[in-house]
Amino acid sequence: SNRFNVNGVMVSGEHFINGERVPSPNTFETRSPMDWDILLANVARGDKSTAKLAVDAATEAFPAWAALSPDQRSVYLHRLADLIEEYKEDIANVECSDMAMLFESLRLRLVPRGATNFRNYADLATEHEERVWHSKGTLNRVIRMPAGPAVIITPWNAPFMLSTWKCAPALAAGNTVILKPAEWSPLSASLLADLIAKANFPKGVFNVVQGLGSEVGNALVNDPRVKRISFTGSVPTSRIIGKAAAENIVPFTAELGGKSCLLVFADADIEAAAKKAAGQFDDSGQVCMAGTRLIVEESVKAEFLAHFHRFTDQHVMGDSRDTKTTISAMIHPIHIARVESFVQRARANGDTVVRGGKRFIEGKLWYEPTLIEPKNNDSEVVQSEIFGPVLTFQTFATEDEGVALANSTIFGLSGIVYTGNKERAERVGRQIRGGTVWVNTFLVRDLTAPFGGIGHSGLGREGGHYALEFHSDLKMLQILEG
Ligand code: ADP
Repeated sequence: SNRFNVNGVMVSGEHFINGERVPSPNTFETRSPMDWDILLANVARGDKSTAKLAVDAATEAFPAWAALSPDQRSVYLHRLADLIEEYKEDIANVECSDMAMLFESLRLRLVPRGATNFRNYADLATEHEERVWHSKGTLNRVIRMPAGPAVIITPWNAPFMLSTWKCAPALAAGNTVILKPAEWSPLSASLLADLIAKANFPKGVFNVVQGLGSEVGNALVNDPRVKRISFTGSVPTSRIIGKAAAENIVPFTAELGGKSCLLVFADADIEAAAKKAAGQFDDSGQVCMAGTRLIVEESVKAEFLAHFHRFTDQHVMGDSRDTKTTISAMIHPIHIARVESFVQRARANGDTVVRGGKRFIEGKLWYEPTLIEPKNNDSEVVQSEIFGPVLTFQTFATEDEGVALANSTIFGLSGIVYTGNKERAERVGRQIRGGTVWVNTFLVRDLTAPFGGIGHSGLGREGGHYALEFHSDLKMLQILEG
């Protein structure tokens, strides 16, 4: 069979459509970020006809899946969650090679969270009660109806976690799914398809289509039979997909990039704030929610930086499988070159590179933790998402000035605030422009909370019942009484 041995796990590079593996005449390569000479797999490169086949399957499977009760669907979702737990080492092994995420963090945190996503949505959909009331002589009900086939397009960072986060609500709501993972880390989605098959989902309920965004992805979002599009990725792609959604009058959610602040007040636990700041280099900064703009009250600058450099010095760059490693390789040569060019332009612009600013090893994909003091707030490194281990450092004198700096980009995904003052926590927390704001902590994720962005960070909210609403059509049913 067309399977590849990735870190001891046999992974298929084929599509998964209508319950079956579908080979492709054309393929693309996925390589190891740790050693680019190592080919991990040849992966199916879908085209228009692949997209049509997948939407055919999802359309055909939809009525029967939609007709099941949430209770009946939850049996499948819980079975899938059980299998994710059973195979979590396999998933972690594949993803730590394909995306170079840390094995331990996958095994302990991100893969189990994938199981939790399916459990949460199985339960949330089951617990939902229809709103029923009487008024003006009628019995009234609000009914939540499955919408139809949903296309789910995921990015290359945290691919397993994100695909489960986005597919679980669609399936729980009664929609069928076509998942299109990113071409830089396509393999964990293929394992998810194996588990779907093992869990005996009806054919066509969950499909995985592999390939390039501009080819198969584009064909998927333009198919008028698709009734929902859920996307996580970049702003330019979001514009293209949004136009396709507009053409077909289809609801569309977009979780895009960020340039979040880490705003530190003098009254905070400075050491804790600096430790969290050094933690923004985790996953080489390839995290949409990362607090990449350090904005620190002037009076504690020296103290903060001393702690920050000490914690940053403790990072260990290495192989994703090594438990001592805290920073693994970046995803792709093209991406690290993009990060390099940001730093190069920063230097040319007169920004000050305080530390890092180069590859760890020439020709390899590790980039050193980098801190830049920008010439001013208009510098490109302050205003653009870099998606790498590059932080900027700015200071402020008053609370209003700090908040204004924090809110000075076109993004608004999240924000981190450090303060020892409870009233300020509440006051500033409310003022920060972002879909999620953490105070004195970071990434404490409640998977039932709304998640999404403001401005160029996105459209719509996922998480909890918000995603179930997105994947449903509401009907108001009124019946004359008496
Ligand atoms: P990133 O900067 O994270 O690579 P992209 O927006 O390019 O962000 O990619 C995110 C996802 O969108 C990937 O799965 C990619 O294949 C897909 N994609 C890219 N272009 C298109 C498109 N024109 N139509 C549909 N999907 C696309």
